[in-house]
Formats: sequence, structure tokens, C-alpha cells
Amino acid sequence: MTDAAELRRRTAALLAAHPPATTGRLDFLRARFDAGLAWVHFPAGLGGLDAPRALQAVVDAELAAAGAPDNDPGRIGIGLGMAAPTVLRYGTDAQKRRFLRPLWTGEEVWCQLFSEPGAGSDLAALATRAARDGDGDWTVDGQKVWTSSAHLARWAILLARTDPDVPKHRGLTYFVCDMTAPGVEVRPLRQITGEAEFNEVFLTGVRIPDAHRLGPVGDGWQVARTTLMNERVAIGGARLPREGGMIGVAAAAWRDHPGLRTHDLHQRLLKLWVEAEATRLTGERLRQQLAQGQPGPEGSGMKLAFARLAQRISGWEVEFRGEAGLTYDDWTLRRPEGVDFTGREAGYRYLRAKGNSIEGGTSEVLLNIVAERVLGLPSEPRTDKDAAWKDLPR
Ligand SMILES: Cc1cc2nc3c(=O)[nH]c(=O)nc-3n(C[C@H](O)[C@H](O)[C@H](O)COP(=O)(O)OP(=O)(O)OC[C@H]3O[C@@H](n4cnc5c(N)ncnc54)[C@H](O)[C@@H]3O)c2cc1C
Repeated sequence: MTDAAELRRRTAALLAAHPPATTGRLDFLRARFDAGLAWVHFPAGLGGLDAPRALQAVVDAELAAAGAPDNDPGRIGIGLGMAAPTVLRYGTDAQKRRFLRPLWTGEEVWCQLFSEPGAGSDLAALATRAARDGDGDWTVDGQKVWTSSAHLARWAILLARTDPDVPKHRGLTYFVCDMTAPGVEVRPLRQITGEAEFNEVFLTGVRIPDAHRLGPVGDGWQVARTTLMNERVAIGGARLPREGGMIGVAAAAWRDHPGLRTHDLHQRLLKLWVEAEATRLTGERLRQQLAQGQPGPEGSGMKLAFARLAQRISGWEVEFRGEAGLTYDDWTLRRPEGVDFTGREAGYRYLRAKGNSIEGGTSEVLLNIVAERVLGLPSEPRTDKDAAWKDLPR
């Protein structure tokens, strides 16, 4: 069993063999992956050491203290948080070997081709068709929407309908789609912040080899559930120090601008601070469960709490900052190196946080999941469970 002391020893060996000051960023990241120190809970040979997930923090702290480069997780969040756990669980050995290393180092960006104009919350209703060709490979036709990072991506996780004659959840298959393949067209969509973080993606006669299918034909919904459960943890479950993230920004603003303080804003900030800390500690508990396997529906509760809190804190911040809270720089289509969500202006954060209760499952849908799968309350009436997808009204 790999323990903290062993991880420290291996991290020191990595740093000695590849000093960050004299090693190129990509070379260092590749060496870190090969040393099993990328995601320590992954299997040996695939960037990990089969170690407890909680011990990742030991490696990360040692590397940060040594000034080692990271893999810019904000840029490759969909690959790390969603594609990787799905490939790990359902991929063949060849798929794991091909995809995981460049995914983790950030050499290959991933995006998620799930949502469609007629299928968001009701994702299983999606209409993009994948038809099998004579040679066993697939041809895909359809339209996806809200595809974050599609303009940067080399690969996509794609959910498509392979059998319209069975009920909607049963006729889906999960693929890895090459975003550079002929027939893939990416068109930017501008959002409320002014940026085009996401896109429409049109798929016209796109060929996907059967070797890029993840999981059995017709089992796409099961595979997608792994992605979605992980997505909610990826969005809502980031590991933060006390007063990290949004509440840290709000508290810093309070300290930096004594002239703007009022009694009411003080009371509200204190309440938000307590809620943020309670949410953070709940996240720590959730990660202890994660250490033992795949995330469960509890991750939906975490994402729900995160979205509500982010919107309330960013709203507080705009109110506190007054006029300064209403302005922000034009970041259109670019993300300055090293600047993340918390490094931008209050006005930007306020607008971007609106999407938190939509992306990765809306808050209403997550409430349904918590009600049914965590609290055991009766499920919503579903009239379309047994009808063939092709017979559903659209
Ligand atoms: C910033 C951002 C990034 C995104 N990135 C991606 C991406 O990379 N890839 C991708 O595939 N998708 C992405 N999405 C899409 C996202 O997953 C969908 O927008 C989301 O699932 C909701 O679907 P919809 O927009 O079709 O809304 P709808 O499903 O049409 O919902 C409309 C409203 O109805 C409510 N509603 C729907 N069903 C129920 C129900 N059963 N009970 C109660 N209320 C209900 C919803 O809560 C919502 O308020 C992104 C979205 C955002 C905002």
C-alpha cells in the first residue's frame, strides 16, 4: 500500500531527476505522469499508483512548494473531471493507454458533446444519430449545443442515438469523437459575459471508428451517468482552503474597502462566510466517500450548494463594490495566462455565476436527484419510460 511517506519519497525522486527550474513544462508533466504522481488513485501505468485518492494532496503540496508547473486544470477541466473517470471505468486497455496521458498533461483538450437544442435536462431524449456502417465503424449526424471548449478540443465525449426503436434511455451509445475529423463544424456562441466559452457543434457524416466506442452498444446511458456524476463533483467539489474561492474574494474586498462598509452588508457577509465554510467542510466529507469509489448522487447536492452560494456571494460583491462592481474588462475570447474566475472583476463573476445553476445539470434537476436518490422520496411521474424513442413527441 502506497502511503504518504512513500509518496513524498517518490515526489522527491521526481524533483531530483527533473528539476522544475531546468526542465521544460511538458517534459516535467510527462515525467510526473510516468512516475504515477499525476492522479495517485489511478492505476499504476496510467498516471497513478493505486493509492488512496486523499493522498493526492500530499503530492500536490510537495510539488507546489518546489515550484513545479501544474497542468492548468482550469483549461482542461472536462478532460480531467469527466472524460478521464469515464475512460478509466469503461475504456479498453488500448483506449486508456492512448487517451489518458495527453489528457492529463493538457496536450489534448477534451469537450463534452451531450446537450442538444431539444435535449438538455432530458438528455436521454437526444437525437444525434450514430449509424453503423458495413465495416463496423459509425457515421454520426446531428447538432450539439453549449459545448464548452469545443473550439480548443482535440477529442470529445459524445452521446448519440444508435437505436431509435427502443425507449430513450436504452438506445444510446457513448463514443470518443475526433474534433478534427471531416464533418465536425464548431461555431462560437456568445454568452452573457460577452465571451464565447461554449459553442454549437454540427456533426455531418462524421466517421468514428468502432475502436473509439466507450462501453457496449446501447449502454451509453450507463456510461454517461458516470460522466454526469463526476461532472457534478468536478463543478461543485473543488478542494479549497478556508476562505478560498469566491468567499475569499468577497472577504478580501471587505478588508480592502473600509469606506464601502455598511452594517447590513457586514451581517450578510458573515452569514455567507459561515455557509461557505460549512459547504467546504461538507465537500471534504464527500471526498472521503469519493476515495472509496465512484461519486454517488450526493455530488449533486454539493453542486447545488456551490451554485447557490456562488450566485449569492457574487451578488453581494457587486452590491458592496457599488459602481466598480458593474464594470469589467473585455476578456472576449481570451483567457489570460494564470487568471482564473476569482482573478477577474466582480461584474464578470456575477454574470458568469449565473451559468453555475445551469451547467452540469440545472438546480431544479439536481433537487429531483437529491429527492429521489438521496432522500428516497417518490419519483417524478415519467410517461415516456417504455415508449420507443421514435414515437415520442418532439
Ligand atoms: C456555462 C455552461 C456550460 C455548458 N457546457 C456544456 C458542455 O460542455 N457540454 C454539454 O453537453 N452541455 C453543456 N451545457 C449545457 C447544460 O448541460 C444544459 O444547459 C443543462 O443541462 C440544461 O439544459 P437546457 O439548457 O436544455 O434547459 P432545459 O432542460 O430546457 O431546462 C429549462 C428549465 O426547465 C427546468 N426543468 C427541466 N426539467 C425539469 C424537471 N424535470 N423538473 C423541474 N424543472 C425542470 C430547468 O431546471 C430549467 O430551469 C452548458 C451550460 C452552461 C450554462
